[in-house]
Amino acid sequence: MKKLAFLLTCFIISVSSAQEPKHKIVSYTSNPKKVKETLNHESVQLQTDQIFNKLIKIRRDFHEHPELAGHEIRTKKIIAQYLLDLGLEVDTNIYGHGVTGILKGGKKGKTIAWRSDMDALPNDFADDVAFKSKNKGIQHGCGHDIHMAVGLGIAEVLAKNKAALNGTVYFIFQPEEETFIGAKAMINEGLFSKTKPDEIYGLHVSALPAGQIMVKPNEMFAYQKRVRIQLKNELTKEEAKALTKKIHSFLSRNTTSSKPWEIQQMVDPKTGLMNSNTIFKDYLFMDENFSIQSKNDILFLQAYIYETDSSRLKDILPKIKQAIEDSGYKNQLLSISFTQDNPTVINDEKLTNLASKTLEKIYGKDVVISDYGQVPYFNDDFAYFQQKIPGVYFFLGGSNMEKGIIAMNHSPNFQFDEESIRTGVKCFSSLILERLNKK
Ligand SMILES: [Zn+2]
Repeated sequence: MKKLAFLLTCFIISVSSAQEPKHKIVSYTSNPKKVKETLNHESVQLQTDQIFNKLIKIRRDFHEHPELAGHEIRTKKIIAQYLLDLGLEVDTNIYGHGVTGILKGGKKGKTIAWRSDMDALPNDFADDVAFKSKNKGIQHGCGHDIHMAVGLGIAEVLAKNKAALNGTVYFIFQPEEETFIGAKAMINEGLFSKTKPDEIYGLHVSALPAGQIMVKPNEMFAYQKRVRIQLKNELTKEEAKALTKKIHSFLSRNTTSSKPWEIQQMVDPKTGLMNSNTIFKDYLFMDENFSIQSKNDILFLQAYIYETDSSRLKDILPKIKQAIEDSGYKNQLLSISFTQDNPTVINDEKLTNLASKTLEKIYGKDVVISDYGQVPYFNDDFAYFQQKIPGVYFFLGGSNMEKGIIAMNHSPNFQFDEESIRTGVKCFSSLILERLNKK
């Protein structure tokens, strides 16, 4: 999950008051037709438990040996070997250090893809765990080590059930997510030409309580844009600053007293994503402090913008123009443009609703939390896969206040409750099994 232009230096979070997750499987034994189904998912849970310690070990190994985008050499080797040992058809030549594994089931059917990203961050925070990074200045501070452990776990559980699988599972281990390069490059290099999945799924760890899965149809994040304004270099420093303030207030849209830029509120039961009155819906905000630079005769004003509503994106540049003209700088204005324009994660509505229902049916209604907001600052190049294949991207909670763990991605004290690896493997192995069983 790529994060832009925002560094959390002090992070206070109210995870403890959020809803406690439940893990139990709902029993169907009263309905004889569903006994077989119950057995399937009970064995998924059992098999997940059997490999859990092995997954923790591999996650910690990834954590100790993080590699930056474009350098996932060791990581690739480990993943490829793991998938080969499971008997999957492995390809390491699609793009960069990406790895794919094809698991063909005993019966014909659909193809479902699962994606895990692989790269770490250029961080040097004090990581308070026994399995600290051995690569100076590089850390798994976004949790992609967890994503890989979950992906490998799903591959192992489903490989054990190969004979009963109706179709094919396509595992995609994607490099270079943080730079927003890997997904697009894998697609351009033929990721879907030989094997075209019918559906694609993936997850990102988040600051929600451990054991919770959160999802919503359509946009999971706000649209991020970087805007660049060029003016004749005729304004004083003070005038330039005053102009950025004017643009900022002219553009902002948020309900009274809500502060959607306070990312730590995303897990607050009253204001966070899980509340239908969340502060993280219907907003536009931008960096309060623009980057102000001058070069020769040109003054550059730059800032990031976060907008939840795709239909309002077209209004942003004309509004900025108006704010500049209203401030009396019509003659100084040279150009306004977006310098960064990535697609955003958009969950297929039908598949999202089906996935939530499926998981709730198997693991109880508390396992999936509805998401009512759109997270600012973050985005994921999983969006490129969704442009080709209908898919769903989930958040997997990893915070646990009792253990003093806050899983806020990219923050200096990012940690993760490894129990959630179990949740991820069992839930998404079950989901893939169910999706393959549906015509
Ligand atoms: Zn990430």
